[in-house]
Amino acid sequence: MKVGFIGVGNMGGPMCRNIIRNTNHAVTVFDLNPEAVAACTAIGGAAGASTAAVAAASDVVFTSLPMPKHVEEVTLGAGGIAAHARPGTVVIDLSTNSPATARRVESGLAAKGVKMLEAPVSGGVPRATDGTIVIMVGGDAALFEANLPLLKSFSREVIHVGEVGMGSVAKLCNNMLAFCNAAAASEALLLGAAAGIDVHKLYDVICNASGNSDAFRGLGPKAFARNFTPGFALDLAHKDLRLALEMADEVGMPAMIAPQVMTLMRTARAHGMGGDDSSAVLRVYEQALGREVK
Ligand code: NAD
Repeated sequence: MKVGFIGVGNMGGPMCRNIIRNTNHAVTVFDLNPEAVAACTAIGGAAGASTAAVAAASDVVFTSLPMPKHVEEVTLGAGGIAAHARPGTVVIDLSTNSPATARRVESGLAAKGVKMLEAPVSGGVPRATDGTIVIMVGGDAALFEANLPLLKSFSREVIHVGEVGMGSVAKLCNNMLAFCNAAAASEALLLGAAAGIDVHKLYDVICNASGNSDAFRGLGPKAFARNFTPGFALDLAHKDLRLALEMADEVGMPAMIAPQVMTLMRTARAHGMGGDDSSAVLRVYEQALGREVK
């Protein structure tokens, strides 16, 4: 099978490389960043000339792109997949979108005979790299089954959650919770630091106690090493939380904690941290207290 991969950045890159390593499919990649492409061609992928060229030559095209507008441009834009793929081609979008964007893209592709699964992922760069991410898939059940072996080639868990749109719903609910956990983890670490405990000991305690979470476990090492290189950029986390809050408004769900976390993210971005890892929200508390967790 001929597989295309458009957007081989922090997440797309390692997922694409796992497909190259773990399957016999011919994989062709395209990204605006030549270095990202080179990291895939170095292990056996081919470089495509453009989105259009990759779309025209592929049976399945993955996309892993930053914002909904990039996904719409690459799928439905003038030089995009819908305009250049053969009817019957399958698009699998691994990006995080709103449900409305996913549905719009699906119907735009369907008008050209191109099928789509929305397949947002969770686990971050470490799990994308070691092939243990979870993929939450929205789309036709038979199309899902047909593409399951390919999805399994770079993940640990693949869950079909319903029609197109429901993958985004699952992803946005998950990320809203994860960001709330990360903000709470920041508060706990700073509270302990301000109260005088050795924060390494506090970290060990909480990792083994009831306050533990993925967000807390991930935050400690980044804070102690002062390493806020993304990872998962704060700008992308802010996008996800914005989409989750829009969804809450659409369904009339009175979110109470997440809007506070949005204010924290906005403050971090106003301090110039948008390009840093999303864990940089910790530094908003550090700046308020004039001390670092380390
Ligand atoms: P990234 O910015 O590292 O990678 C995106 C890549 O897309 C970049 O290499 C960029 O050059 C490329 N790109 C942008 N526009 C393009 C275009 N028109 N044509 C071709 N290439 C284009 O972002 P990422 O962290 O890999 O995130 C990708 C998606 O996955 C986002 O939707 C994000 O929300 C989601 N996500 C990220 C993480 C994470 O931990 N980083 C985890 C889960 C989901």
